[in-house]
Amino acid sequence: MARFGILGSKGRMGQAIELALADVGEDFAGGAGRGDDVTVLAKASDLLIDFSSPEALEANLDAAMAAGVPILIGTTGLEERHHWLIDQAAQEIPVLQTGNTSLGVTLLAHLVREAAARLGEDWDIEIVESHHRMKVDAPSGTALLLGEAAAKGRAVSLADASVRGRDGITGKREAGTIGFAALRGGTVAGDHTVHFLGDNERLALSHMAENRSIFAKGAVRGGQWLLGKAPGRYTMPEVLGL
Ligand code: NAD
Repeated sequence: MARFGILGSKGRMGQAIELALADVGEDFAGGAGRGDDVTVLAKASDLLIDFSSPEALEANLDAAMAAGVPILIGTTGLEERHHWLIDQAAQEIPVLQTGNTSLGVTLLAHLVREAAARLGEDWDIEIVESHHRMKVDAPSGTALLLGEAAAKGRAVSLADASVRGRDGITGKREAGTIGFAALRGGTVAGDHTVHFLGDNERLALSHMAENRSIFAKGAVRGGQWLLGKAPGRYTMPEVLGL
């Protein structure tokens, strides 16, 4: 039983992670939020899970390094300077950073990359996502992550290949492009389907999130995997042995 310290513990993800820890019988060492001393929590923990804010990242990494404990970072909106800080910390402690801790999405991205690599350019790729009516951005970060996986499979740059939505006289579909479409409404937590559209046959790879507990469960699984690892920077696919 490991002691998990949660950074951003009062937030939506922090609370979901506390529940997920109880589900798998792991120990909640305590939480920290805005204004709290993270070093005290780090010293009382076997590892830290960070779902707070990019502003808090530097202090969180410093606390993890001072205590010599691994840290999993699920916070999104990180910039280049944050990734630089993570790379520095990873020289001293194990760090896993990911924008999506869902095990299902992690595996889906792997399958999409494989399919894109093997099916070739005569299979058109279109990514369709649905989210609740409150979501303010499109396409979703997960749709972009899946687009990146498809682009990697094809050895192209997503920035060059992507087509975001269509309206009016768009002309024929350009070969090799990766299309995105977004639906918004209701309370959908997040559905993603990557369509591979060939001549006379179609393949669809889908993931449906029912609530944020999947991210919490994946974060706990990632944290368990990170314990005892050598210092370095790790990714979610490695947690699944991919
Ligand atoms: P939230 O706003 O509900 O919770 C964030 C928590 O962090 C709050 O308790 C807040 O007080 C605390 N916090 C904010 N700034 C802080 C600071 N400077 N110092 C210390 N604590 C601070 O948000 P949420 O929905 O729980 O999401 C948290 C983060 O996790 C976001 O970046 C979100 O995008 C990301 N997220 C990642 C995944 C994933 O799979 N990796 C999934 C969901 C959310």
